[in-house]
Amino acid sequence: MNNTDFKAVLSAIPGFSSLQFRLLKENVQARIKKKRVSHILETESYNVKCPFCSSKNFIKWGRRTDMQRYRCKSCKRTFNSLTKTPLARLQRKGHWLKYAHCLKYGFTLTKSAEICGIHISTAFRWRHRFLTNMKQIKAKKVGGVVENGHLKLKESFKGNRRIECNREYRDVFVLYGIDANNNIFDATDKSCSLDGLKEEFKSLFKLNSLMIARKGSVYYEFAKSLKIQTLDDTSNTMFKSLSGRLESYKSEFTSWIYDHFKGVATKYLENYVSWVRLLNEFKAGPSALTILYRAKSVEKYRHQPEKVKRFL
Ligand SMILES: [Zn+2]
Repeated sequence: MNNTDFKAVLSAIPGFSSLQFRLLKENVQARIKKKRVSHILETESYNVKCPFCSSKNFIKWGRRTDMQRYRCKSCKRTFNSLTKTPLARLQRKGHWLKYAHCLKYGFTLTKSAEICGIHISTAFRWRHRFLTNMKQIKAKKVGGVVENGHLKLKESFKGNRRIECNREYRDVFVLYGIDANNNIFDATDKSCSLDGLKEEFKSLFKLNSLMIARKGSVYYEFAKSLKIQTLDDTSNTMFKSLSGRLESYKSEFTSWIYDHFKGVATKYLENYVSWVRLLNEFKAGPSALTILYRAKSVEKYRHQPEKVKRFL
């Protein structure tokens, strides 16, 4: 729009009716929010490279949906900073921060949809797009005194419209543990077996680890098989003082699964396990901005600034 047209719009505003003025205000606010999210996600992209061939030889290629587009000189394809991320092609960016806020506080899909003015199916799609990357953000190593446990859930087909009659619902396990530095490690498994534990956690333990495990338990067998020292005396004072952390994780997990999310489908269980792990990483929970950053990329997640509050 040229300056003359813009001035004409400004001069027309005093003649607007209350309704017209409100509509204008809402439109402008929605536009600002959308631009703000695009700006946040683009400025975070300090290390942009072509998502198709990883080349850094690219040029700017105009803007689309409020995001800078690039064209790779090597493979000739165009992209923006969200291409090939879980947030690619999602619409209504202006509501993303608000939605991340809803996720942080565990609002139901219905309430989140209502707050953000989106359809409930969109709220569901966003939830899992936002959580997809979280699965990759795991403790690389654990050490010191390590506590562990497991939770048994019944297989769930929530949301699946075609459930076979007389289907037998199997058990599903969430295996988890916490080390001396509060690093949480976890996995979902169809059994709580020695093989399952080995497959998930074999390379996780540092040499100095001391695993708390009762004699005869599968974790005890696991520790013995990897030559990890164990502490199996339940009367030990150290054991008593530590066990609170595990109980706290367990109650938080069940509270999120059953109270906030009202039960979860087994096929998405890993996403939710990752979510509880993320919650435990931050004392006051992750900010909406952190949720958004991690939804987009896991590359430098530990160094994201916590400055979302001014955007909400
Ligand atoms: Zn390329």
